[in-house]
Amino acid sequence: MTTYTAPVEDMMFLYEKLRNNKSYNELEKYKDVTPDLVKNILEEAAKINQNIILPLAKVGDEQPATLENGVVRTPPGYKEAYKKYIEDGWTSLSCDPKYGGQGMPKTVSAFFDEMLSSASLSFKLYSELSIGAYNCINHHATNEVKDKYLPKMVEGKWSGTMCLTEPICGTDLGLLKTKAVEQSDGTYKLSGQKIFITSGDHDLTENIIHLVIARSTDSPSGTRGISLFLVPKYIVNDDGSLGPRNGISTGSIESKMGIKGSATCVLNFDDAVGYMIGPKNKGLNSMFTMMNLERIVVGIQGLGISEIAYQNSLMYSKERKQGKSNNNKTSNGSADFIIEHADIRRSLLNMKSIIEGERALCFWLSQQTEVSLNHENKKIKQEAADFVSLMTPVVKALFTDMGSEITSEAMQIFGGYGYTKDQGIEQLYRDNRITPIYEGTNSVQAIDLVFRKLVNKNGDIIDRYINMVKKEMEINNNEKIAPFIAILDTYLEKLSSFTSWVKDKIQNSKDDANAASNDYLKVLGLVAVGYSWLKVLQVSFEDYDNNKIFYEDKIQTANFFFQRVLPRIDAHCSSAMSGSRYIMDFKFN
Ligand SMILES: Cc1cc2nc3c(=O)[nH]c(=O)nc-3n(C[C@H](O)[C@H](O)[C@H](O)COP(=O)(O)OP(=O)(O)OC[C@H]3O[C@@H](n4cnc5c(N)ncnc54)[C@H](O)[C@@H]3O)c2cc1C
Repeated sequence: MTTYTAPVEDMMFLYEKLRNNKSYNELEKYKDVTPDLVKNILEEAAKINQNIILPLAKVGDEQPATLENGVVRTPPGYKEAYKKYIEDGWTSLSCDPKYGGQGMPKTVSAFFDEMLSSASLSFKLYSELSIGAYNCINHHATNEVKDKYLPKMVEGKWSGTMCLTEPICGTDLGLLKTKAVEQSDGTYKLSGQKIFITSGDHDLTENIIHLVIARSTDSPSGTRGISLFLVPKYIVNDDGSLGPRNGISTGSIESKMGIKGSATCVLNFDDAVGYMIGPKNKGLNSMFTMMNLERIVVGIQGLGISEIAYQNSLMYSKERKQGKSNNNKTSNGSADFIIEHADIRRSLLNMKSIIEGERALCFWLSQQTEVSLNHENKKIKQEAADFVSLMTPVVKALFTDMGSEITSEAMQIFGGYGYTKDQGIEQLYRDNRITPIYEGTNSVQAIDLVFRKLVNKNGDIIDRYINMVKKEMEINNNEKIAPFIAILDTYLEKLSSFTSWVKDKIQNSKDDANAASNDYLKVLGLVAVGYSWLKVLQVSFEDYDNNKIFYEDKIQTANFFFQRVLPRIDAHCSSAMSGSRYIMDFKFN
């Protein structure tokens, strides 16, 4: 079984020291969220994740969720753990106090999301979509609906789902077939089938609030005719009590490669009563409130799984002895610990430098998200929203692809013991593998970035981002940080040229832009992680004498990232800018 120690020290370093974000610091709402308070929260979070949730990872893998006589049962131990989880208030961490939430910023809840992803992604998924559904209802529903549904969802007594996918429509939601027929009382009756629905049914909560996209009978075809509906498993009476069962049944649950503890359901809607949320035919816009936040959280899933894979690899490489190292002149045994070998060290540093850089980027993105939601100045708010929109596909796709790379590297470090089941490493690889697929595949994220996010109605966001990084590099340059800035500057220039090339191709050769989009996302992502490392380095040099061991570790890890990871950008740029003609002209036989 894997072990896990929540990286509270690194998280607290980010929370305490990377606070030179003026707009974020101006948010009145979070003035009381002091580092002491956050430390207490993270220490308690570490306890529940390490002691109660981590052991459920193996249980869920070996005894997956089941469907018996139409009832979905979660793996053994899930119910007890979930009860404690909601009693301790973890579902309410970032929710509005108006509905019983604790009102913590995303800078804190993102750390909790990471820990929970490390401990057990399957267990996490039972509450994750509830928070997504909460956000969507909170943004788009009437006060009456919010008052009726949100307190129970915040409390964790009711959970939520996101019902988009159908047998013939995954990426292309315009193809959906689920119908909504308006009733004389203003409610709708929904009929159709949704597939792959995470936590579509289970035995952890009293009610499940499905957010379903469907087409009203008088709506146009395609994405312009999609509306969003709230469809509860049990109808909720006016006094908040539960009424009869709605017309929703679980057809089956999927047998999957990973996240086996999570029930992925086929849901059949047969004249199920639904309530429209937000304007008619604008359902996708409303759903995107949920999906955009969810995409960042899926990125964090990749980060969390990477962290536990790294921790176990590090430990194993200090215990496993094989071969003689080239450098260890003092060893007198027959073999050295594998951590002595240069290639194992490279692999560990690759993981560590990516993970810590991603965590810093995620912290910056959480700050931007809060500014985009809460700042009083409209211009600042919009600018933050634009950066969040730019970075959402990047974080989703980069972190989850890196999760695949890192869990694969972890398996390599463990050798045969990684491929066999006992150590739990192959499970991390399997569990992570869904993250580049769901919540919009990573290819779709890359296409979204290139075709929709670089420039939008608010202007040229990518140029603004590049200029912001440039400006910060100029302001913060000094003797110690200069070598790092010089390297990042080189790659920022490459990103600039690649961006001009992509913008030209968007206008003149869409296939070139499409075929370059995955590489483009990686280049922007690596620059963004590099920029986050620069922020970490600034503090590390300035505050060095106060915590030499910690900061030396940071500086050396950053050094690896700048020397060994950032140069991947060269390959991405030259490969992508070779164009697409030879790809599109190829005849597949
Ligand atoms: C375990 C699990 C949990 C899930 N949970 C949920 C959930 O809770 N709610 C929900 O609604 N759905 C859920 N899904 C569905 C998931 O979001 C979809 O599987 C995913 O969006 C991809 O859709 P698809 O599988 O139909 O693939 P397709 O859309 O058929 O895509 C197939 C391939 O074509 C590529 N592709 C598609 N369109 C384009 C394009 N325009 N350009 C280039 N490439 C393209 C894709 O990237 C992919 O590689 C879940 C799926 C799984 C497996």
